[in-house]
Amino acid sequence: MNSNELMAELLLPNITKTTDYYENLYPARNLPEGARVTRIAPSPTGYLHLGTLFAALVNRITATSTNGIFYTRIEDTDKKREIEGGIEDIIDGLNRFGITIDEGFVSGTEQKGEYGPYQQSQRAEIYQTYVKELIRQGLAYPCFCTAEELEAVRTEQEAQKVRTGYHGKWAKHRDISYEEAKALIDEGKPFVVRLKSNGNEENKIIFEDTIKGKIEMPENDEDFVLLKSDGIPTYHFAHAVDDHLMHTTHVLRGDEWISSVPKHIQLFKILGFKPPKYGHISPIMKLDNGAKRKISKRKDPEAAVHFFAEQGYDSECVIDYLMTVAASDFEDWRRANPDTSYKAFKFNLKKMSVSGALFDEVKLTDVSKNRVSKLSSGEVYDKITAWAKEFDGEFYEILTKNPEYTKSVFAIDRDVPKPRKDIAKWSEAKEYFSYMFGELYTPNFTLPENINTEDAKDFLNAYKDVYDDKDDRQQWFDRIKAIAPTIGFASETKQYKAEPESYKGHAGDLSTVLRIGVTGRRNTPDLCSIMQVLGRDECIKRIDTAINSL
Ligand code: GLU
Repeated sequence: MNSNELMAELLLPNITKTTDYYENLYPARNLPEGARVTRIAPSPTGYLHLGTLFAALVNRITATSTNGIFYTRIEDTDKKREIEGGIEDIIDGLNRFGITIDEGFVSGTEQKGEYGPYQQSQRAEIYQTYVKELIRQGLAYPCFCTAEELEAVRTEQEAQKVRTGYHGKWAKHRDISYEEAKALIDEGKPFVVRLKSNGNEENKIIFEDTIKGKIEMPENDEDFVLLKSDGIPTYHFAHAVDDHLMHTTHVLRGDEWISSVPKHIQLFKILGFKPPKYGHISPIMKLDNGAKRKISKRKDPEAAVHFFAEQGYDSECVIDYLMTVAASDFEDWRRANPDTSYKAFKFNLKKMSVSGALFDEVKLTDVSKNRVSKLSSGEVYDKITAWAKEFDGEFYEILTKNPEYTKSVFAIDRDVPKPRKDIAKWSEAKEYFSYMFGELYTPNFTLPENINTEDAKDFLNAYKDVYDDKDDRQQWFDRIKAIAPTIGFASETKQYKAEPESYKGHAGDLSTVLRIGVTGRRNTPDLCSIMQVLGRDECIKRIDTAINSL
């Protein structure tokens, strides 16, 4: 054995497999030409964040558009920051938003696929095998520096005004011999394994980012850590080994990782791997007092994906909205293909925003209203009740007491060629439909200024006498028009406009009075349909209450 081989045995004596073993275990994927393999690799250190959902969508649609594979990998090497239930929350959240996972963690507890395990804490032996090979080749070495020693180096570098870090002549153990290392290990000294960097600060690396275009950066000359003293790899090293063995073709991740690309490309080369293509996703931004800033987990409720679920934004609407953020050509496509799943959209990474798109709740509301308007009353019923079951028990009870009635409420101005576009999220539904449910009905009988109380009462009394719950919309309005002249109102708006001084108002005003009488509101969807759903007895009862309360 030469001294590098002795060093490798000294540092990682328990590793007996070779890298060839893993290369054979995880052969190339059998996919059609051009298929992209993408992934998200969340750390379970917090709940599902909008940025992660967005990155997952971009990765998913990239794989879908090329008949590729999208998988999940859990990067849990930092056990101290892990939160209980973190994996479940992230994966369940993706499932809730319809982001299909082909491979990796498909639920909080279940992994599937031939390239696993998909959890870094279960892959220690794999990383160590690759590190051992680098040590054997003299490309990595043990470093025994303590935190205090590293701090002292840093202070000295700052005093001398040179670049900080473990590089060049500052890399104390770069040339440590087998004998020196053995003596320190025999003393029980802990060590990390560092890369023996072959990079030079003066040289540039150039790479083509699939989202941001050409990027130029200095080569990495830092002997950064590959394996920590507990045998767990750093993010950089695990990324190279995992994305190589899992055959990722495109690493599409948050742009906070751009500055690490020189390290990553260097690692791929040193390990003899083909580097993946990189694409760095700009963060979703928010306007704060006129200034654009990154959406923040701390300040913005919408940064946590739970916000959308609690508010009752339909997951499809959120995804459609995020597609408009992801692709500048999505909205045109959506207009041309109103009923097609977003999955059929041909996504192009080049169409992504380079500077960071703004999160815009007004736009989300707009997209949602459009999508919700296309749902059938049965779908609305299923979705609202599912939402209410989780977030508003009282509303759930009311909605499910008489499902047929509730469905007929949701059918008003729906299931028609020009459906209503008034609901953006389910949390609005309770207030919105309150007048359709006795338990929630809190009428406001305030009349418009141009109508006096006596006229309103006269009209409602006259209407009660002719009201027929079998009327269609035309007949329904004709009855109002017929009453109008008997109390000094014009039957036709035209008439009123031609001679406003001759009338108190027109039939349209009287329909508003009826609307207020029956629903306690000035604005509702089609009143004739509402009255049909409420039924004759309820309508008469409400009109009587209105007459007495006006
Ligand atoms: N674990 C990293 C993170 O959560 C993943 C970055 C990547 O996708 O490579 O930011």
